[in-house]
Amino acid sequence: MKINLLKASFIGILILSITYSCSSSETEIEEEVTTTLHAAYASFNAEATTIYIDGSNVVIETTGLPDHDTSYWGVGNDGYIEEDIDETPSIMSSNNNAVTITVDATPNLTGNTISTDFNTIGIAVSGASIFNDQEGGGALDAAAASLDWTGAHIGPGVYHYHLEPKAFTDDDENLVGVLLDGVFLYGRKCNSTGTYPSGLDASGGHTTTTQHTTEAEYHYHIINELYSNTGSYIAFEGPYQGY
Ligand SMILES: [Zn+2]
Ligand SMILES: [Zn+2]
Repeated sequence: MKINLLKASFIGILILSITYSCSSSETEIEEEVTTTLHAAYASFNAEATTIYIDGSNVVIETTGLPDHDTSYWGVGNDGYIEEDIDETPSIMSSNNNAVTITVDATPNLTGNTISTDFNTIGIAVSGASIFNDQEGGGALDAAAASLDWTGAHIGPGVYHYHLEPKAFTDDDENLVGVLLDGVFLYGRKCNSTGTYPSGLDASGGHTTTTQHTTEAEYHYHIINELYSNTGSYIAFEGPYQGY
């Protein structure tokens, strides 16, 4: 009788432990699905950025220091090139270029839109910030003379792009960066067709495949319309579609 009881409880423990190991491996699989970083993040400057999953969000920490030449590095720096622009302070004389943004791993494409602010609206693949079409809350024209060869300048805050950043996208389908709503921004062309996309929404967005996804996914493009007399293109005017 005692032996039978022991046997029964042993079998019971065995069944319990099998059930437990099944359910725990299911949990692991579910977690893996939600903790995979989007393939596009592999294109970001690894020297400047640290990118990781935090729950349902992606955290992007950056030094803000871009991986390309500009006169904004300042004379004497390895990245310095001479440019004929109205220069504001150099990157290295700025107090702090570091920025951390937290974005949705899966953007909320509910149809609601939110306008962009005069501040960092996204992080570019170079590691530096993306700004909108405003300067100090006014039109960008006033600051146009200070923009470098890649559509960026500095001050009073971080080094940031307003125009198509030619250092890493120049009339092509390259990834530009990720915006605060978690939606990726690409160049003026789309990988799905190899040419300028048609039928974009007000934000320059549409849903197709990209070089980073085999399934169609909502993303923005730099809109292929010249900005003012700069001979270039605004990086992103907004509004956000993914908040
Ligand atoms: Zn600016
Ligand atoms: Zn596209």
